[in-house]
Amino acid sequence: MLLFTPGPTPVPQNVRNAMSDETMHHRTPEFEAIFEETRKHLFKLFKTDEVVMLSSSGTGAMESAVTNLCKNTLLNVNSGKFGERFGKIALAHGLKNVEIKNEWNTPVNVEVVVEAIKANSDIDAVAVQISESAGGLRHPVEELAAAVKTINPNIMIIADGITAVGVEPIDVTNIDCLIAGSQKALMLPPGLAILGLSNAAIEKIGKGQGYYFNLATEIKKQRENTTAWTAATTLIIGLLEILKTIEAQGGIEKLYENTARRAEAVKSALEALGLHVYPSTPAKSMTTIDDENANEIRNILKKEHMVNVAGGQDHLKGKIFRINQMGLIENYEISWVVNAVELALDKLGRRSYTGEANRVFNEIMFGLKK
Ligand SMILES: *Cc1c(COP(=O)(O)O)cnc(C)c1O
Repeated sequence: MLLFTPGPTPVPQNVRNAMSDETMHHRTPEFEAIFEETRKHLFKLFKTDEVVMLSSSGTGAMESAVTNLCKNTLLNVNSGKFGERFGKIALAHGLKNVEIKNEWNTPVNVEVVVEAIKANSDIDAVAVQISESAGGLRHPVEELAAAVKTINPNIMIIADGITAVGVEPIDVTNIDCLIAGSQKALMLPPGLAILGLSNAAIEKIGKGQGYYFNLATEIKKQRENTTAWTAATTLIIGLLEILKTIEAQGGIEKLYENTARRAEAVKSALEALGLHVYPSTPAKSMTTIDDENANEIRNILKKEHMVNVAGGQDHLKGKIFRINQMGLIENYEISWVVNAVELALDKLGRRSYTGEANRVFNEIMFGLKK
């Protein structure tokens, strides 16, 4: 079965091999050397002043970012399930919360955030997804962050890059906390989260907040190439392997380039079939299609063509399907996916099969169109 959900994504064979070695003790020079090398790679990927790895899924990093960087009121951008989560985290910790809510296909309006911040001087942190995976949407995070910092540079900008880090270059100039998770663009099993932090964020963290997710404790330890609690050794070994693999395959810039082209090729191929892209500003991490036959298409893909794509959640259940574009993806796999969608439409009597999806995909992916 081809796993084409926008998280979890498939783990490359060499990474699985690297993680299959016998368990290593985490308080050893051997593991510390691996940890140190992994940190060096992460600094290059995140381009932030500090990086911290946590043994948790992505939500753990979201929670630690909110509790350590927000002391009063969190403004969260909600254009989907993950944006909504930031607000719920704030409330769960007794923080105040202002939410900017939009439909899941609509990116945040920077002006609306600016007005909200001007109207409420209690807001000391803003949380937003770079790529909101619920609808496959790209928020204008860089622009938003710059606008907020112009009003008040002390407001912390928390950017959830779980489906953006490793997908596209991110300008971290005005971002204080950039979050990644293992099972999306980093092509690892779930269970590891990473935060990139600015010096201003580290200053605000101070002595930190909470216990397990106290970022001050972790920063101190991780600067010494160890962790406060037992490290997710196996996942970190996998992380080092995937980061080395990306480097060996031409580097991160090359991966960004390939991902951007793949995103364009998939989107154009599906649009050529008459399908409709759901978000008004699609993220490069995935293509999201809204369609009355979304469920039927997903079922045909799975049962007849060995392709697993994601559906929608909550009010979009049965109304959308999402195809992953993150990571090191073989053209022979993803071209099969768009081809299978065309076969499904033929089966549903929507259009006769002509090979149009693959034609458009290949033209863009291989630069055939003059
Ligand atoms: C998957 C995802 C999360 C949540 O991560 P978990 O690992 O499921 O806790 C958060 N934000 C975005 C944008 C995601 O895609």
